[in-house]
Amino acid sequence: MQSTEEIKGDGANAEASSSSGAQSPVETAPPEIEPISKIAGGPKSALTAARFAFREMGVVRGTRTLLQINQDEGIECPGCAWPEPDTGRSYFEFCEQGAKHVADEATHRRLTPEFFRQWSVRELAKQSDIWLNQQGRITHPMVLREGHEHYEPIEWPDAFALIAHELNSLASPDEAIFYTSGRTSNEAAFLYQLFVRQFGTNNLPDCSNMCHESSGTGMKETIGYGKGTVTLDDFDHCDAIFIIGQNPGTNHPRMLTTLLHAKRRGCKIVHINPLPETGVTRFAHPQEFWTWLGNGTKLADLFLPVRINGDVALLKGIMKEVLAAEERQPGKVLDNEFIRTYTSGFQQFKAALAGVHLGDILEQSGISKTQIEDAARIFIESERVICCWAMGLTQHKNAVANIEEIVNLMLLRGQLGKPGAGLCPVRGHSNVQGDRTMGIWDRPTEEFLDKLGEEFDFEPPRRHGYNTVHAIRAMHDGAAKVFFALGGNFLSAPPDTEYTAEALRKCRLTAYVSTKLNRAHLITGQQAVILPCLGRTEIDHQLSGPQFVSTESSMACVETSHGKLEPASAHLLSEPAIVAGLARATLDNRGGIDWEGMVANYDRIRDHIARVIPGCENYNERVRQPAGFYLPNPIRERQFKTGDGRASFTVHPLGGIELQPDQFLMMTIRSHNQFNTTIYGPGDRYRGIRNARRVVLMNREDLRAAEFYEGQIVDLISHFEGEKRIARHFTIVPYKIPRRCVATYFPEANVLVPVRYFADKSHTPASKSVVISIHAAVTEPPAVAGESKED
Ligand code: SF4
Repeated sequence: MQSTEEIKGDGANAEASSSSGAQSPVETAPPEIEPISKIAGGPKSALTAARFAFREMGVVRGTRTLLQINQDEGIECPGCAWPEPDTGRSYFEFCEQGAKHVADEATHRRLTPEFFRQWSVRELAKQSDIWLNQQGRITHPMVLREGHEHYEPIEWPDAFALIAHELNSLASPDEAIFYTSGRTSNEAAFLYQLFVRQFGTNNLPDCSNMCHESSGTGMKETIGYGKGTVTLDDFDHCDAIFIIGQNPGTNHPRMLTTLLHAKRRGCKIVHINPLPETGVTRFAHPQEFWTWLGNGTKLADLFLPVRINGDVALLKGIMKEVLAAEERQPGKVLDNEFIRTYTSGFQQFKAALAGVHLGDILEQSGISKTQIEDAARIFIESERVICCWAMGLTQHKNAVANIEEIVNLMLLRGQLGKPGAGLCPVRGHSNVQGDRTMGIWDRPTEEFLDKLGEEFDFEPPRRHGYNTVHAIRAMHDGAAKVFFALGGNFLSAPPDTEYTAEALRKCRLTAYVSTKLNRAHLITGQQAVILPCLGRTEIDHQLSGPQFVSTESSMACVETSHGKLEPASAHLLSEPAIVAGLARATLDNRGGIDWEGMVANYDRIRDHIARVIPGCENYNERVRQPAGFYLPNPIRERQFKTGDGRASFTVHPLGGIELQPDQFLMMTIRSHNQFNTTIYGPGDRYRGIRNARRVVLMNREDLRAAEFYEGQIVDLISHFEGEKRIARHFTIVPYKIPRRCVATYFPEANVLVPVRYFADKSHTPASKSVVISIHAAVTEPPAVAGESKED
């Protein structure tokens, strides 16, 4: 057992865990373990969605609201970024998770100034994340003044003046950080980046930095385009779908409908993931009630339980099989014409792959030769293949290599730029892709800045800004002093929770545009402001009438979203109005931009977007078409905007993380009852876990070998460059997970992820391959306030 004295480095304060208030308190009740669900969806999904929605919104309002989700001229779901079909939408274009996300926002519960009078920030920090979220919609702008214990109401002009004063008191605009969450609409994002650049900085970190940045980096480097190359229509024509490092049943549930349709017409599905996930195993469509009594439809034909961080090895194994098959049948396996015409680097790639030993591949991937052959056979026998992935691939030190190996695999058989084939990084938040398109980026291109400067007649800053991990370190080092967030929870989402908390506490001011209370409002700078905004579900009344906003799906389709409900409070402002208010207060007419005019009528924002953002020409007209419009996708025409105009084969080392005999590789995962940092309840239905989140999923044989027992309370210690971080009081749950691999929930285990441990090139925190050791707990779990039982 490690003594606490040995815990050193950035994470030393992680020891403080629940007493620092930066982390949700530990549950005291043991988890209840049930068998893993055999089928995803079905009646339970429909009932859970209805129960959650009716509890939060009431039956009539709830039903009316749900029927508006993802409809033409309806409410664009604020959940994940899976797209809707272009035509033939049903009345129920939402999933269980989408219903929860909408109901959570449209709840009838209200959090008024009276609540903040009763509760001090210190007392609130002792409550669980679930309890905080359950308090309802924030109704008034609030301020936490220096040295005070309670938030108090503040008028909007005063809130803007306070933030503007702090911004204008900085020695340089680069001392301010402007974060964006993936909920922000295109209109708000465009205005926001314009304000930030008018103010004088490119410090625009976003949630993409923490999720799919590795996808964009790897794809841009190899094919010259950083987004998915397929549309929903391609799923109607593919012969095989590879799903890697992704759990669509929980994180993108309507993708299961797409998989079901593909499966019914004979498409093969391969699932590659350390954990078997119910959603990809069997699925009963919640709307096909006649299937509820059966066993659902088997989705995955092949499941490969790859070891954590074994993806590069596994992909190399599959590619070795593909090349071996080509040797046996020359000209019959590879798409040599495609390779010759459209790619570069094939010979170096082939030579390097020949030098990789099969034994190393098998050891690192944990997958047998037979299983690798099976996957390769499906790949070779399929004329059209789509490869999907999510954060199981993007949050590793070698995450960009993971993505580039997928590109290598697909290039071998020309699986880009033809119907029914391509790359599909599946985004987890509704407009994370659109925000980047609108210019939310710490490293904007010169072309973008030139156009922005031309449109608004100013010289935008050229120096690159901070991404998320740089921003945290800058605040910690005192190089940044004001933190402003357009949405999100910038305490629970980033890595190294206690370090991030220290960083935020060092700021002069932290300010959040939010709909609901979260832990980031409680771990603040010397002063803090909460600016409550309209949700996606609410009618956005402006001078010229009700406004709609637009968002971009994972497949680059831009659609409108029209709020339908009256706002939760008369004191809320829309995100564009908040940005404009702050811009006016801060810039004091510097730049001569008509902020009021743009907020009065969002068409004027979209007119600017049309002139600045490539592919958005005639934005106002095209976004009003039923199902919106698609942004240009050069890969579909086999145009590769790389240095040499070709898609590149790339070479990567096998990598592999060496573990000491008592160490494990930990990945963080999401439960079925959460949406990113928002926790709806303490259970994880598909994985059979009830009433607990502080659990560590562990292979039963590992558990025996280490002489632990099921249900034992343990402490987790992460090891990084001689530093140790500790997370106390996790309960061991035996699970089907490869040997020496363990899984824990995000954000509870974020405290173990070092802020300096991130993906090469993309800087995405490496939350999916953290080296830890596991130790019997030395202290009893503390008593906790705000525990919430599963609904
Ligand atoms: S799949 Fe994603 S976007 Fe669609 S309803 Fe579900 S959560 Fe919302």
